[in-house]
Amino acid sequence: MRGPAADGDRLWRSLMDMALVGATPDGGCRREALTAEDRAGRDVFVRWAEEAGCDVTIDVAGNIFARWAGDGEGAAPALAAGSHLDTQPNGGRFDGVFGVLAALEAVRTLRDHGVRTRAPLDVVVWANEEGARFPWSCSGSACFTGALALDEARELRDAAGLRYGDELVRNGIAGDAPLGGRPLAAYLEAHIEQGPVLERHHTTIGVVTGIQGYRWWELVIEGVDAHAGPTPMEGRRDALLGAAAVVQLANRLALSVPNARATVGELDVHPNAHSVVPGRVRLVLDLRHPDLEALDHLQATVRAECERVLSEAGLGFGWRSLYGRPPIPFDGRCCAALEAAARSRGYTCERLYSGAGHDAGFLAAATPTAMLFIPCENGISHNPAESATPEHVSAGAQVLLDTLLELDHAS
Ligand SMILES: [Zn+2]
Repeated sequence: MRGPAADGDRLWRSLMDMALVGATPDGGCRREALTAEDRAGRDVFVRWAEEAGCDVTIDVAGNIFARWAGDGEGAAPALAAGSHLDTQPNGGRFDGVFGVLAALEAVRTLRDHGVRTRAPLDVVVWANEEGARFPWSCSGSACFTGALALDEARELRDAAGLRYGDELVRNGIAGDAPLGGRPLAAYLEAHIEQGPVLERHHTTIGVVTGIQGYRWWELVIEGVDAHAGPTPMEGRRDALLGAAAVVQLANRLALSVPNARATVGELDVHPNAHSVVPGRVRLVLDLRHPDLEALDHLQATVRAECERVLSEAGLGFGWRSLYGRPPIPFDGRCCAALEAAARSRGYTCERLYSGAGHDAGFLAAATPTAMLFIPCENGISHNPAESATPEHVSAGAQVLLDTLLELDHAS
């Protein structure tokens, strides 16, 4: 359903105004979760939301809900859209902020045109999405949906030893509304892609059909330390040579499976001395795929091949699972509505998976959920150079607004 035209210029100005909060000299933003800068950004949002006619509620985990009342207030669960305002320590101007302000632009546009919805609309700001300061990304949305206990979150510590629970209170992030208890009819999140696919394809709108699953495996390879001089090349048991084979194998196997990712980004070499054949290497293998069966298969293949190569080299090995999350498929009806909205506006559109985690991943367990992506310059994010065009920002907000109206109409 085509709604009134969103004001792309106003949205762009709001993005640039929000970027002044915690601005860094290189054009980026630093509003780490639960800091004074985070609070300052949230205060700006609350002021704008109230000016747009929303009633603002903040829950005890610090999630902000700015409610635009519909005609049937109280009768229907709300349609929600949003994202996050916290950033990486060296973050950009669009990650998270775009999704929050695009949702706010939807409300501003409806107010300007006197359009009421049947369901209330909630513009949501989830607390601590980045997990950069406190090591639990999306903790706000995870607490809201029950995937994480707030008492557990409160005990998290940052690098300086400060407690999450104390910082929630000290910087005025926590509100007094109880957690949860807000039934949502659907949740939509607009976001920059944080990857290069849409830009490469000259696509304006990405309909995100899910978030890929991932597994982190620690692999310890055991060889024998030996003097680099007297030890002949034949018969060495060089653990680093085994690790090099693992890196190559994982890369080659992932290249042969569509949509697979395999990365070794962490490597400890022992004893890490220039005249010693390395006797032990610890590495972390990161495997990802949007499909659970394919992820299982990728994992089994990579492990079996690595074990074969390491055994042939006379090396010992041990695997340990560190962490993982299953793939999260988004709601088919929400995805179809996003796609129809994009096409009806004449925007180029394609379906893709998210390579990164998002609050929508937690919401998907609780309510019909989907995301839309817009391109970002060179696929770069978590970087002061993060950038998107005013045209794409405006298109994303328009598709979000049209889709919210369609879901409201169809409910
Ligand atoms: Zn984000």
